[in-house]
Amino acid sequence: MTNEKHFGVPPRRRVPASPSRLKFLRPILHRASFVFPITRPPIEDGAVLVAEGVIEDVGPFRLLRRQWPSAQVCEHQDGALLPALVNAHTHLDLSGLAGKVPAQGGMAQWIRRLLAAKERMNGLQLELAHQRALTSMRSFGTGIVADINSSARFAERIVEGTPITRTFLEVLGLQTDSLEQALNRFPERAQQILADGQEEISLSAHAPYTTSAALLREVKAWSGVREKTVPVHVAESEEEIMFLQSGRGPLRDLLEERGLEPDRWSPPGCGPVTYLDRLGCLDRRTLCIHAVKVSKEEIELLSRTEAGVCLCPRSNLFLGHGLPPVGRFLDAGVSCGLGTDSLASNDDLNLFNEMAVLVERCGIDPETVLSMATLHGARNLGLVQRYGSLEKGKRWLAIRVGATDGESIVAAGCRGEVEWVT
Ligand SMILES: [Zn+2]
Repeated sequence: MTNEKHFGVPPRRRVPASPSRLKFLRPILHRASFVFPITRPPIEDGAVLVAEGVIEDVGPFRLLRRQWPSAQVCEHQDGALLPALVNAHTHLDLSGLAGKVPAQGGMAQWIRRLLAAKERMNGLQLELAHQRALTSMRSFGTGIVADINSSARFAERIVEGTPITRTFLEVLGLQTDSLEQALNRFPERAQQILADGQEEISLSAHAPYTTSAALLREVKAWSGVREKTVPVHVAESEEEIMFLQSGRGPLRDLLEERGLEPDRWSPPGCGPVTYLDRLGCLDRRTLCIHAVKVSKEEIELLSRTEAGVCLCPRSNLFLGHGLPPVGRFLDAGVSCGLGTDSLASNDDLNLFNEMAVLVERCGIDPETVLSMATLHGARNLGLVQRYGSLEKGKRWLAIRVGATDGESIVAAGCRGEVEWVT
């Protein structure tokens, strides 16, 4: 599915594709039974022309072969070429908690168990699990991952063979009135990394029920001038809706225990999407993670403001929240990326398994879920100029799956039958 409103912008070219220059660069023509560009229908016996890591052309093999007779041909028969997947939401620093946090008892109870389990792990265990998680995601075809980081630990180096990572340092505090105050709880090094303005590191606000209005606004302002996306957990559980409506319920007890002083905070008396909009925090660079418990009006708000959504259906099922209204989001033109969330609320980090749930349980067609796991995710993270589809001018970051139609591609991906194409 292609949404013109969101995806109509042509990708910016990096290198001019003059024939003489391409000849000099010795382009490679990747040929497959099917090419899934995502922004247009699949191409049978398709090909992608690549030079120096940039896509120069996409189309039927015969046509491209005629146009580029000197290109080296690389065959990927009996399979399909797809853009690398974009996992738009996870928490790598929770990877060590796989299988350690039972879901029973509701959201507040689960968060309690999660925090206790994390405290029992040592730094080395968490770091090793983090690295294993990155490697496993790559093996499942994920090329880009958006990681919410609440530990302020940053990898010292890019590890080869792992996805491109966008890290969002998570801030919260119901009684925290400024970003400066929120960042003070992090080590100086983390603050310095943010101040340095690296492309791959920015900010996330945890959720409207844990973050003050002033802090939400400041995070959005900080990110806005840097043209960065702000991920926020939104409308995940009934407990969250109850707390925002009335200031009561199990989440209030949890916040009290954590010293977040919910009694000094005024509930907005509305749903979280409406609340973000009232604060001026809902726009095309806001990424609403989960969005399960949203009203019809809030779906319209998301559409009107062009805010992105990241759906994590298996995590929602694990925690007993039900499934998000994905069909209604798509009908309203809302850009819906997919995420696995962390291993604390999911069996694995294979994004194809999220796609399978949306196909089997929500009746979404397989080609649409493939576009959600690639193009929508890249758009929502502000990376659509470079990634998310196989289009002229974008980076060559692609996978081969040994199947040729949407449904069998999702099934093969669930079995881990994915290869990287270089
Ligand atoms: Zn999350």
